[in-house]
Amino acid sequence: MQTTTLSANRWPGLIERYRAFLPVTAETPVITLMEGNTPLVPAPAVERLIGRGVKVFVKTEGANPTGSFKDRGMTMAITKAVEAGSEAVICASTGNTSASMAAYAGRAGLRSYLVFPHGYVAAGKLAQALAHGSNLLPISGNFDAALAIVREISATLPITLVNSVNPFRLEGQKTAGFEVCDQLGGPPDILAIPVGNAGNISAYWKGFSEYKAKGFVDRTPQMWGFQADGAAPIVRGEPVENPQTIATAIRIGKPTSWHLATAALAESQGRIEAVTDGEILEAYKLLAREVGVVGDPASPASVAGITKFAAFIPDGSTIVCVTTGHGLKDPDTAVKTSGVGELTPVAADLDAVKRALGLN
Ligand SMILES: *Cc1c(COP(=O)(O)O)cnc(C)c1O
Repeated sequence: MQTTTLSANRWPGLIERYRAFLPVTAETPVITLMEGNTPLVPAPAVERLIGRGVKVFVKTEGANPTGSFKDRGMTMAITKAVEAGSEAVICASTGNTSASMAAYAGRAGLRSYLVFPHGYVAAGKLAQALAHGSNLLPISGNFDAALAIVREISATLPITLVNSVNPFRLEGQKTAGFEVCDQLGGPPDILAIPVGNAGNISAYWKGFSEYKAKGFVDRTPQMWGFQADGAAPIVRGEPVENPQTIATAIRIGKPTSWHLATAALAESQGRIEAVTDGEILEAYKLLAREVGVVGDPASPASVAGITKFAAFIPDGSTIVCVTTGHGLKDPDTAVKTSGVGELTPVAADLDAVKRALGLN
């Protein structure tokens, strides 16, 4: 009988995969949920809108273990917290950071605390933090206020802050830049990305720059960042006191990594622009219906941005649009953008079903 031999080929998680680029040693107790290695999905429907031989891929970060890119930073932040002997972690969050913190902290046996803006975190994200056993507290204030409070708590108590001011977060997140190059066999021409606290755009830039410095790639992409029109402090050049957008993950008025993002934009000769909620929702539908990727409402800002500013894309460019999180965390937006009202049952009868579906 013919036998086939399988050899183990398990993705080891991003710390293991990119160990040489990360601040870990052989003794570091790696806390991983096998994050990273997310699919780079071709997006012909977006290519058709732009034309001119432009290639578009979507880096689907919603495919990470807790459904957003935050897992890349959290595997590093929690690993380093454990290495340092910490027993508790805290964050302010618009949702995905806390979902990720809760999962990795639970895995590591650390207590976790979450302070969040009341009414502005999508249901699925809160449900995750609860499921993973985090301690939750809503405040009557926005994300920026929540961050100021948790910063103070971590400065005065033995609790590690895991917001993106924690430098290990960006170290983990930069691996997405490595992966994009590994998957394409080289760097894209443009990396398009939603911008909130601006940690992720800075982390990708760090990743691309390090890959170039080490000789894995010979050039770096332009970084194109997109903010929501009602929450666009970097575009406007000043903090926004009352940021507003349906894309709650980027509803940020005073970005933590503002200065890093400004440097990334300048060094890469990139752009930072605003897209409206209407444009975000159009891109949300396009992505979900024609590409097959339902993103967190912040995610489509990258696709909305490249179609809005297509005139600045050189012919034949390769673009990677980062979709930062999974749309299932925010079922309200999915239902509302579908335009379908309340669903009412019909009789369990073949003719009735065909009639109701318009199939006769
Ligand atoms: C955190 C987050 C963002 C914003 O990333 P920054 O690093 O804060 O710019 C965008 N989209 C989703 C889904 C997020 O969770």
